[in-house]
Amino acid sequence: MNPVRVIERKRDGHENTHEELEFIVRAATNPGSGLMSEAQLAAWCMAVVWRGMSAAETATLTLAMARSGDRVDLTGLPKPWVDKHSTGGVGDKTTLVLLPMLAACGLTCVKMSGRGLGKTGGTIDKLESIPGFQTALSIEALVAQANQIGLALTGQTPNLTPADGTLYALRDVTGTVKSIPLIASSVLSKKIAGGAEVISIDLKCGSGAFMQTYEEATALGECMLGIARELDLRLGIEITDMDQPLGCAVGNLIEVQEAIETLAGGGSPRFRELVIELCESMLATAQVPGGKATACLDDGSAYKKAEEWIKAQGATITLAEVANLPLAPIKKEIRAQQSGWIQRMDAGTVGEVVVDLGGGRRSKGDTIHPGVGVRVHKFVGEPVTTGEVLFEVYAANDADEAIQGLTRAVEYSNIEVAPNPVVIERLA
Ligand code: URA
Repeated sequence: MNPVRVIERKRDGHENTHEELEFIVRAATNPGSGLMSEAQLAAWCMAVVWRGMSAAETATLTLAMARSGDRVDLTGLPKPWVDKHSTGGVGDKTTLVLLPMLAACGLTCVKMSGRGLGKTGGTIDKLESIPGFQTALSIEALVAQANQIGLALTGQTPNLTPADGTLYALRDVTGTVKSIPLIASSVLSKKIAGGAEVISIDLKCGSGAFMQTYEEATALGECMLGIARELDLRLGIEITDMDQPLGCAVGNLIEVQEAIETLAGGGSPRFRELVIELCESMLATAQVPGGKATACLDDGSAYKKAEEWIKAQGATITLAEVANLPLAPIKKEIRAQQSGWIQRMDAGTVGEVVVDLGGGRRSKGDTIHPGVGVRVHKFVGEPVTTGEVLFEVYAANDADEAIQGLTRAVEYSNIEVAPNPVVIERLA
């Protein structure tokens, strides 16, 4: 196979053949093999950015990447085997609540999650604010735990979809992350390798998300559905709002504490609505009887499952004790500067503030301060009067920049404003 011809075919707007795509994945799986250099792989990615890929090409790439390394085999565990993925957002602690809900509803959930980079936090960082919680399980331990309690979660293992690992790292430094077929194949290859047969995608849309507009989010969703059709995957996709932070907590420990409150039947109504909708949607996609999502939050079964989960993964304290852990010591309030209605609460800005406080990473090796964060008291569409508290900031050192940033994040209206619904649309 001639790598230059493979790149030229994509550059000139042709489809790459099945053999060519398998060759690219082989080259990405074995970066030192000389099959394709890093420059050639990156050039091919750039050609895809401009020319796109057909549904058949995207499905072939997805499956080849899914098979490029280890795969989780859930044979023998109770079906259905489910997984969920969020495209990432500000205040997005959905996994922490949805996983125990799904397990409480009788589904088997095995999940690999990532660390945060940039303004959207990572589930692994959030879980690491629970003392003792282990986020690096072997595949054997993951499967054994899922067999025992119905759910297990680990950070990404290097040998799962290594081809995606190579391509993603190259895309990150060559301006080629933003390609719909490359994103869709990257996400779904990891889900397939993780053993899932039913997948729920929470496709976030807005200023705090990767996909900032409805059109971009829908295009990514449609591409994923195309892959699912080709590969016979059961996929449910919800486009959900990320123009304002999700729920009232943004940070690591503070989000875990909000998740615990939600598991106990409370929490922010918008966040509760989202997890209930995603849970029901998963039950529908998995073709099992629905109507259990609200009950598992209200009857304590999801909370009990979450307690079992953190204990199984090494937590040294209970959920109730996690809920009472102290946040960072410097607490400041930000108050409304005028009366009216909240017109805008820019999720992206709130996310950036939390990163600057030390709650996220600017580059891969940065350390996280688990206790810093922001509590949101008012949301888009709510009336406010001058002086009312909009946010609380928890800082380790200085909160001045955070106060300025959060003040900038809010816009007011003199007339009533309707917020976006939390679930904008269900695509499948
Ligand atoms: N997340 C992924 O896993 N892959 C992408 O390509 C983009 C976001």
